[in-house]
Amino acid sequence: MRVTGDQALVKKLNKSIVLDTIRRKGPLSRTDVSERTGLNKATVSNLTTELLEQQLVEETGPGQSSGGRKPLMLLFNAAAGCAVGIELGVTAVKAALTDLRGRILLERSAPLADHDPESAFAAIREVTAPLLEAAPHTPYGLIGIGIGVPGMVDEDGVILYAPNLGWEGVDLKSRLEAEFGVSVVVDNEANAGAAGEREYGAGRHVRHLVYVSAGMGIGSGMIIDGQLYKGAWGYAGETGHMSIESDGRLCSCGSRGCWELYASERAYAYADGLEQAEPARDMPVLTTRELTERASLGDAGTLAMYAEIGRRLGIGITNLVNGFNPEKIVVGGPLTEAKAWIEPAMLAEIAQRALPYHRRELAVSFSELGSRSAALGAAHLAVSQFLGRVRVSL
Ligand SMILES: [Zn+2]
Repeated sequence: MRVTGDQALVKKLNKSIVLDTIRRKGPLSRTDVSERTGLNKATVSNLTTELLEQQLVEETGPGQSSGGRKPLMLLFNAAAGCAVGIELGVTAVKAALTDLRGRILLERSAPLADHDPESAFAAIREVTAPLLEAAPHTPYGLIGIGIGVPGMVDEDGVILYAPNLGWEGVDLKSRLEAEFGVSVVVDNEANAGAAGEREYGAGRHVRHLVYVSAGMGIGSGMIIDGQLYKGAWGYAGETGHMSIESDGRLCSCGSRGCWELYASERAYAYADGLEQAEPARDMPVLTTRELTERASLGDAGTLAMYAEIGRRLGIGITNLVNGFNPEKIVVGGPLTEAKAWIEPAMLAEIAQRALPYHRRELAVSFSELGSRSAALGAAHLAVSQFLGRVRVSL
């Protein structure tokens, strides 16, 4: 039989729909899959047979019968392979070995003392090597590596601009692929975090989600109608550079009054008060860990600073809420360690400022995955790319 390209494409699409349905909603019977996808039973049955042969789906004991023989249930086989998710941060590199469902098998991290690409590459190798050694024996082995980076990434995975690392035009993807011999997905850290929260954390079942990552800057990952929104050229989400003060502090991006100067760890550099226009250069810049210790001891200056950071976070989030009308906002990143002192002022500001219709069914929460959202999300990006390559036989 001659098979046209269209038939192959349709089959591939149907197969990925069946696989995705089993992955997200399983255990399901073949009839359940047919009802949920609208594909006829014969098609589902054929595709399921292939997926079973490929070990991506497995059968478990009989489910509930609606009369007659009890059906066998289908489950996604999360143990068919494993993935590595990496977050390249400004101060540390974190990596996690996961199964295909984001269950963490092993984690490693290493401090990042120097920001040149060679040092970063060495740190990535240091955290990744032990994970690869410990990876269990699985049908597909290591299916890929995902990495979230603090900067703008183009469609080819080249890091165009990462101001906090001082990088321009670094092709991390090719380097890592040559080193590890698997396909590598590079994305912005906030996009990776958004994917992590949507897949495994506070954003599950949410179709319109804005993930705000607050650390040494602010970036956002926007999921619109279930899809990560990347903009025309992949640079969307640089919300840390929205101005919230028209003549405010001067930013390294060349603009003034950028959100991240007031509502991220960058605000710590303006320790004499948030009215200050220039950072206090001689001030030792304290870390979030040190400052949250002070806050927990009731230090008045630190408490006031966090309340103000919370208020400013709320102002920027209000702009995102009014602009995008999301169902849910998830705040993640290192600043969430200070959640207890930030959250009240942040929520009060959103309640006071956001438009009433936008606010009515809005949920605002902090990350469920804590500091792991970007690494887990990066692992998911690799898994998702792998599942997208699933073969069809005709
Ligand atoms: Zn800026």
